[in-house]
Amino acid sequence: MKNLTDALLTWYAQNGRDLPWRTKGGAAPDAYAVWVSEIMLQQTTVQTVHDYFLKWMRRFPTITALAEASLDEVLHAWQGLGYYTRAKKMHECAHVVVEVYGGHFPADRKKLLELPGIGPYTASSICAFAFNQPETVVDGNVIRVIARLYGIQNEINKNDIYERAQKLTSLTHGADYASAIMDLGATVCRPQNPLCMICPWVQACEAAKRGIAEEIPVLKKLAKKKKEGVVLAVWDKKGNLFIQKRKGKGLLSGLWELPWTDDGMHFPFESKWTDHHKKIRHVFTHFDLTLSLFSTTVESTPPALKDGTFVSKAELSTYAFSTLMKKVLKALP
Ligand code: SF4
Repeated sequence: MKNLTDALLTWYAQNGRDLPWRTKGGAAPDAYAVWVSEIMLQQTTVQTVHDYFLKWMRRFPTITALAEASLDEVLHAWQGLGYYTRAKKMHECAHVVVEVYGGHFPADRKKLLELPGIGPYTASSICAFAFNQPETVVDGNVIRVIARLYGIQNEINKNDIYERAQKLTSLTHGADYASAIMDLGATVCRPQNPLCMICPWVQACEAAKRGIAEEIPVLKKLAKKKKEGVVLAVWDKKGNLFIQKRKGKGLLSGLWELPWTDDGMHFPFESKWTDHHKKIRHVFTHFDLTLSLFSTTVESTPPALKDGTFVSKAELSTYAFSTLMKKVLKALP
């Protein structure tokens, strides 16, 4: 095991990626930056996160700056990354870290897990990357590398992968090791066309020996639901568009939107609706949504729309919209 761990660390020192939230050769100095990058990287690619991260750190350079910002500002900065509950939880978490820990993340997994929006994966990542602890961090890249290394052809069992990954984790270079195995998965042990010839683990790798790397890992396929509905552009006589702030605790709450449904063709009030024959498609984690775009012009605010406001097209950019609603705004005539 030690040989594999050392071989990977040597490979990483020469080939690891330079990323703005990372420090090669030890722990990252700023746990706040590690935390921001980890939350952004959930379900989003490194390439996309790169620019968002730099922009975010310019806007909120410290956790205190984030805690002092309004939720609207935070959501606005998060626009385009999706999963807005994450941004809301980050804002909550920033308040707790500032109030309870004086603006410094605790170097303790248990205490990290008590913070809003920090689950086992993020807690392990912060412990490894920011505090150099020997935490085992298992993401999609790590699952692929470990499954191939051991030639696992059955459906993936995450506990089994975790246990195998744990045995390889460096006890002294937690930060570099966690980065190294992720980089190996991202740049060498790629989903397609893995570069086994240049892999530091090729001599030990079962999948490479048997020529079955691309058949691994075997993941469970989830059937996705499909939903359909309408999205409504309601204009006033001056050409202003009606928008409303989403209430409740759901994924999109706190963001601005046009009225829409995801359970069929329902219109909130009687009017002369124009069908634009445009379909807006959006993929959520658990379902695929298709919205048909309709519009109408009203003399005055219909009672069904009382909880919103009419804004000019020029003002729209000052409101925080989800990626779905940005697609809708782009589709407007
Ligand atoms: S040898 Fe090939 S399949 Fe095995 S871990 Fe390395 S890149 Fe992946």
